[in-house]
Amino acid sequence: MRIAIGADHAGFPLKEQVRAVLERRGHEVVDYGTDSQQSTDYPDYAATVACEVAAGRADRGVLVCFTGVGMSMAADKIPGARAALGTSPDQVRLVRQHNDANILTLGGKFTDAATAEALLEVFLETPFEGGRHSRRVAKIALLEGRAETLLTTGETVEPMARSLAEVDPEVWEAVRNEVQRQHSGLELIASENFTSEAVLEATGSVFTNKYAEGYPARRYYGGCQFVDVVENLARERAKQIFRAEHVNVQPHSGSQANMAAYAAVLQPGDTVLGMNLSHGGHLTHGHHLNFSGKTYKVVPYGVRREDEVIDYDELRTLALDHRPKLIIAGGSAYPRILDFPRFRQIADEVEAVLLVDMAHFSGLVAAGLHPNPCDWADIVTSTTHKTLRGPRAGLILCREKYAAAVDKLVFPGTQGGPLVHVVAAKAVCFLEAMQPEFISYQKQVVANARALARGMAKAGFRVVSGGTDTHLLLVDVFSKGIRGKEAEAALDQAHLTVNKNTIPFDVNPPLNPSGIRLGSPAVTTRGFREPEMLEVAGLIAEVLGSLHSEETRQSVRRRVAGLAERFPLYVWRMAPAAK
Ligand code: PLP
Repeated sequence: MRIAIGADHAGFPLKEQVRAVLERRGHEVVDYGTDSQQSTDYPDYAATVACEVAAGRADRGVLVCFTGVGMSMAADKIPGARAALGTSPDQVRLVRQHNDANILTLGGKFTDAATAEALLEVFLETPFEGGRHSRRVAKIALLEGRAETLLTTGETVEPMARSLAEVDPEVWEAVRNEVQRQHSGLELIASENFTSEAVLEATGSVFTNKYAEGYPARRYYGGCQFVDVVENLARERAKQIFRAEHVNVQPHSGSQANMAAYAAVLQPGDTVLGMNLSHGGHLTHGHHLNFSGKTYKVVPYGVRREDEVIDYDELRTLALDHRPKLIIAGGSAYPRILDFPRFRQIADEVEAVLLVDMAHFSGLVAAGLHPNPCDWADIVTSTTHKTLRGPRAGLILCREKYAAAVDKLVFPGTQGGPLVHVVAAKAVCFLEAMQPEFISYQKQVVANARALARGMAKAGFRVVSGGTDTHLLLVDVFSKGIRGKEAEAALDQAHLTVNKNTIPFDVNPPLNPSGIRLGSPAVTTRGFREPEMLEVAGLIAEVLGSLHSEETRQSVRRRVAGLAERFPLYVWRMAPAAK
């Protein structure tokens, strides 16, 4: 770090020791004096060091005077300086975590060299916590601009709007309970995850107040200059991650992405090939109750009975027989890697458009752990909240040839104004997906899903298709005479959250099918690795082995709580403790 230091005559001896400590620790020190114990005025040194830090020419500042207080007072007159007197390591840790203090002031009279070194270490190594503290630090900066008006007009600063707890205690209570639920149970629903605090902050930002129909630089509303910044960031980042020719980041959800993408290439009544919902497809791939099934003539394809892998030969035969205009690949309960070259070949043979819905596995694609559908498909749709770990929303990527049609069908075709706060959160999510840690996370997601599949198989359950290549697996609980609905309910009571799911060629009806779907993204975000996944498999097997035993559920709940405590969820820290 580049550190600016300064002191008056009373702080001079300690400042010399501070410089020695910082240099020993490898920092670049810029010493602005004073150079002796001859009497001087501390504000002069405070001003210089504070300006260096506030202007970004130094990363941090250290100032020393007799008590340290005069230096703080003077330095804090400089906009952008946040000087704080250091008295103990714990206090300095907090002024870094909560106040993002960028200048440490020390009292030469009260601080010996060893204490100063301890304070400096904490000051330089503790990161700012962000989150709610960002808002408060931003308010300090706002005060700098408002001070003159406040002084001259006598206006007062209104405290922040009343909190949710005061305005709507019922909703506040529900939020608090949800925080508690997310923290204390284990989330094994394959389509869920926990976003970062940064994504959460962007989602809760003032962009929620803004209308921005249209696209960057082509809006139907004024005041969109900052909206354009976030939408362009989101578009460019997504383009880079997925090597896409064109990106539309405005779909409110995965379903809306599909709705717009289909309409961009189809007319009502056109024929579409989509994966059978009960073989792992999705509602929007042609279910009769969904817009897709109502608007288009959908021919379902599925998996082979013997290995539960997509029957590409049957897919080709169906394509040749029905000549679809669109073939949809992807699904919500298919645990195997899709053969994109084969899909492409079949689509080309019948001159169909190929659309891949990568809603579930887009995080794996972003990390390079799954073939990239953008290399093969004409149009790719996704959600951003599953493995991708962003806000709840949708995304469309396509070849340039379809760009104009896709944009037109998102807006004005199927949506009005974009949810700008969510678009901002998508930009943050994409930035996070470009970091090396994201690759390690996704590798662990796959390793964890595989460990869970092994654990379930070891406990005697049949795992559909024999395992998984991705983040999800389907367990045939009917192989042990249990139905999905009762399995889901019993596991829920043990605080293991899963969802019932049909399995291919299910002999039971969709509302009470033969399977449960399990996924690893959320628990992996909490830090689970293979040993914990095997433990989870054991807990699931225990609950399902004594389906009606309250005693078993109680015992499992206790062990789930133990795991939750060992791997706390960040939202737990944000939980309002009391009203
Ligand atoms: N496509 C697939 C494959 C999905 O799994 C899902 C959701 O589970 C969607 C689309 C729809 O996403 P949303 O719930 O955001 O509408």
